[in-house]
Amino acid sequence: MNAQAMTSATTASPPVSRPAFGSVLAGSMAVANWHDGRWSAHELRRTATIELSPAAHVLHYASTCFEGFKAYRWADGSIHVFRMDRHIARMRQSARALALPEPDAAQLAAMITAVVDRVRDEVPEPPGALYLRPLLFGTTPNIGAASVPATEAMLLVLASPVWDYFTAGPKPLRIYVEERAARCAPHLGMVKTGGNYAAAMGPTLAARQKYTVDQVLFCPGGEVQETGAANFLLIRAGHILTRSLDPTFLHGVTRESLLAIAPQLGFRVEERVFTVAEMLDWARDGEAALSGTAAVLAGVGTLVREDGEHRVGSGEVGPHTRRLRAALVAMQQGEVPTPPGWITRV
Ligand SMILES: *Cc1c(COP(=O)(O)O)cnc(C)c1O
Repeated sequence: MNAQAMTSATTASPPVSRPAFGSVLAGSMAVANWHDGRWSAHELRRTATIELSPAAHVLHYASTCFEGFKAYRWADGSIHVFRMDRHIARMRQSARALALPEPDAAQLAAMITAVVDRVRDEVPEPPGALYLRPLLFGTTPNIGAASVPATEAMLLVLASPVWDYFTAGPKPLRIYVEERAARCAPHLGMVKTGGNYAAAMGPTLAARQKYTVDQVLFCPGGEVQETGAANFLLIRAGHILTRSLDPTFLHGVTRESLLAIAPQLGFRVEERVFTVAEMLDWARDGEAALSGTAAVLAGVGTLVREDGEHRVGSGEVGPHTRRLRAALVAMQQGEVPTPPGWITRV
């Protein structure tokens, strides 16, 4: 805990008011266009409005995918991107699944590092970071192309300074367990595409209104899957249980990173399908958490179902969740070494 956090914890003064996650864009962005079957050279531009035909493919047929990951300012002031290659690979996989032109891995890497370099003064101190948001969408102006892939596309890399996700310290989440509605079409679960978030919006807003929850855990057919934008882990002493990878849900890089470091921290990792009944059983004396780039690992305090509320463990963010989170954050901040290839210095 840094000195500032310590002060606010001991005096219980209100946290400094910071812009909400994602509401501020950094001053520069990178742009490349797909035209005549190839990518243009990319350029760095001042972040500003883009021009788009009202007939653009993406506006009608949702040909779009994105990524989300972070660059961190280390104690010596240097800036480092966490697991950039995994996010580039996932972006290319999303593009393929949507019949969008695949970004070139080397070019996308160059666009990301160029943006980070250009806006390095805007990277906040920890626990803040620079959130990076590559975005790809079909621009072909043709409203008759419902079943034809876009032949023109735009690739952007946006950056957004973000501050601590939990402004008032880690707060246990209230999660609604949704056993009927699916988050998205099952074959698109592993694709980071806008339509999936649109599909999850209705069930999420309904649950928020009815049960005042933070998020919805989608469990179609009674099998635990994930929430609208984060993976789900069950955690207890020496043991982590999470759903095994399949195309129905997003394969989080945070999930992958946590599972990779868990054995060194003394956790056995079990990846398999499990049911809501099994989750509720675990919750009686175990922990549950959501994993994703934004919050890293966020503890779940309560699972809400139509049959009532189920407290998870003590109802607070559990010690094993805190320990796993701290271990990954220490790697992101350069305080402890990572496995090879996880960090790209800019
Ligand atoms: C982005 C996302 C995640 C988390 O992925 P990370 O790579 O860990 O940030 C999980 N689920 C969904 C639906 C997502 O969109």
